[in-house]
Amino acid sequence: MPLKALDIYKLLPRKNCKECGDPTCLTFAMKLAAGKADIELCPYLDENAKSVLGATTRPPIKLVKLGVGERSFAVGEEFVLYRHDKTFYHPPGIMFRVLDTQSEEEIVAVTARVHDETLTRVGADLKFNGTAIVNTSGTVEAYAKAVAAVEKTAGLPEVLVSDNPAALAAALVLCGSYHPLICAATPENYKQMCALAKQHGCRLVVKAPTLDGLAQLNRDCAAEGVTNILMDLAPQTLGDFLYRSTEIRQLAITRTVPDLGYPVYLDATAFDDEDAAIALGIVKYASVIVTSPLSPASAKAALTLRQNIYTDPQKPIQMNPGLYRVGTPGKDAPVLMTVNFSLTYFTLQGYLESSRIPCFMLIVDTEGLSVLTSVAAGKLNETLVRDAIKKSGVENEVTHRKLIIPGYAAPLSGRIEEATGWKVLVGPRDAAEIGEYLIQEWKP
Ligand code: SF4
Repeated sequence: MPLKALDIYKLLPRKNCKECGDPTCLTFAMKLAAGKADIELCPYLDENAKSVLGATTRPPIKLVKLGVGERSFAVGEEFVLYRHDKTFYHPPGIMFRVLDTQSEEEIVAVTARVHDETLTRVGADLKFNGTAIVNTSGTVEAYAKAVAAVEKTAGLPEVLVSDNPAALAAALVLCGSYHPLICAATPENYKQMCALAKQHGCRLVVKAPTLDGLAQLNRDCAAEGVTNILMDLAPQTLGDFLYRSTEIRQLAITRTVPDLGYPVYLDATAFDDEDAAIALGIVKYASVIVTSPLSPASAKAALTLRQNIYTDPQKPIQMNPGLYRVGTPGKDAPVLMTVNFSLTYFTLQGYLESSRIPCFMLIVDTEGLSVLTSVAAGKLNETLVRDAIKKSGVENEVTHRKLIIPGYAAPLSGRIEEATGWKVLVGPRDAAEIGEYLIQEWKP
C-alpha cells in the first residue's frame, strides 16, 4: 500500500536543508509519494526510515544514469504502459557497436560519427548516445586497445561487452571514471561483475532468459551493493522480447514484482532484421539499444521514431511565438501568419525556403495546436493575431499591410481584417503549394 505524503513527511529528518534538491522536506515527501524521487537523495534518513520508505516510494522503474558530462543520459523512471496515459520520460540511448577485432581507424570513425552526427528535426538536435565495445577477440590486450581507441573521442557513454572479467578490468582502468555500463552479469559471474561495478562506479547489465531468473539476479546484485542495473532479457526472437519486455513493464509499474523495476537493455545486433529490432525496442520499453552503425536511412528512421514516441502526447512540440525570417526579407516581403505547432512551422518553413522567396513568418501562440484544431477550438482568433502583429514589430519591418493566413483559417479572414486593419489574403491549405501561391498571388 503506497504511503501518503504526510506519512512520509513524518518519517523524514525535517531539516529543510535542501540537499535532496527540493526546497523543503515536505516537497520531497510529496515527490516520494508520487514515486518521483529516490530516498537515497536525503543523506539524513536513518535505516529504519529507509526500510519503511524504500519499497513503497522509489519510482517503479529505477532511474539509472549512464556516462558523465554533457552527453550523459538517464533511463528508467517510467510510470505507464501506454504513452497516451501520461508520457514516456527517458528516451532510450542508442549505442553503435564496435568490435575489438576491428582496426583502430574503424573504431575511431564509428565513435566520431556517434559524437558528431546530428539530425535536426522540429527544432530539436537528435543524436546517437554512445558506443558499445564488444570483446569479440576474447583477449584482454585487444579489448584494452579497442577501448583506448574509443577513449580518443572521449565524452560519450560506453557499454563494455565481455564475459571475461579480466578483459573488463583492464578496460575499466581506461574508462572506469566515466560510469560505463558493463555487460553482462549472469548467475555464474555476478559476484565478479558486481565487484568491478562497485570498484569503478559502473552500471551493470544482468542477463537471464526468464523473469524469475532476472528478479533473482537483481536481488543477488543488490545484495552485493549494486543497484544501478539494466536487464538483458536474452530474447531468441523479437516476439520473445515483446512478450517479456511488456510483462516486465506491467509487473514493475504496478509494483507487483519490485525486483523487476529496472530499465531494459536490448542488443538489436542479435537479430537478422535489426531495423525491426530497433523499432520494437524504442516502442516497447528498451532503455539502452545496441546497434550496428546504421545506414543513413535507418539512422534517420530510428532518431525520428524515438523523438515521436518520447514526445509528451499531451504537449505538442511548440515554437516560441514571434517573427521569423526566411532568407533576407525586405520591406515588401510577404508576411505569412501561422500557428506555433512545431510541425506546422517547420513544414511551412521548409517549403518557403525551397521557394527561395524571402519572407516573414508571424507565429502566433495557439499553445502548440495545429491550424485546423486551433480554429475549431477558438484558440486562433482575431485578437490573438492583432496582438501578435503589435508585439512582433512586423509593422516596422514591412511597408505594406498584407497578411497571408493559412487556408484552414479562411473563416477568420474578415474578423482578422477588421481587428488588425491589415488586408488578409487566404493562402493554400496545403503548405506544399505555398511557393506556387506566392509566385502567382503576391504583389506587395
Ligand atoms: Fe529534508 Fe532530507 Fe531533503 Fe534535507 S535532504 S530537505 S532533511 S528531505
